[in-house]
Amino acid sequence: MDPWYKEGLSFKCTECGGCCTGSPGYVWISPTEAESMAEFLNMQLEEFLKKYTRRIGNRVSLKEHPKTYDCVFLKGKRCEIYSVRPKQCRTFPWWPENLKSPEHWKETAARCEGIDQPDAPLISIEEIQKHLP
Ligand code: SF4
Ligand code: SF4
Repeated sequence: MDPWYKEGLSFKCTECGGCCTGSPGYVWISPTEAESMAEFLNMQLEEFLKKYTRRIGNRVSLKEHPKTYDCVFLKGKRCEIYSVRPKQCRTFPWWPENLKSPEHWKETAARCEGIDQPDAPLISIEEIQKHLP
């Protein structure tokens, strides 16, 4: 059966930084992503992990501000490590949980101003599915 979004979805990131802040959450990173970020920042991996990440169970997440919940790399609405940002960030809003149903997508749109904004192009189902795991 075709997914409910078979005709595509309208989205263009405004780079508002909204998905990098707002509520408690986790930005999961893989060992390879941690290495790329450390290299980008000219840091030793150990130093990078200590300064910017936290271990949750057997996974690693970027740190966030304890009050604003800004991601540790969000500075003035900009991602300081944009070119090496983790997959979780690169694939938003195309996460399976956001695409479960029109209602889930609507809830995501309430948090992401790039969804259905006036000059957003229609993103085809093929393009959307490239981002899915
Ligand atoms: S909330 Fe949406 S529009 Fe804003 S930066 Fe994130 S993806 Fe882009
Ligand atoms: S790594 Fe960059 S894109 Fe990802 S949540 Fe942090 S500031 Fe946002």
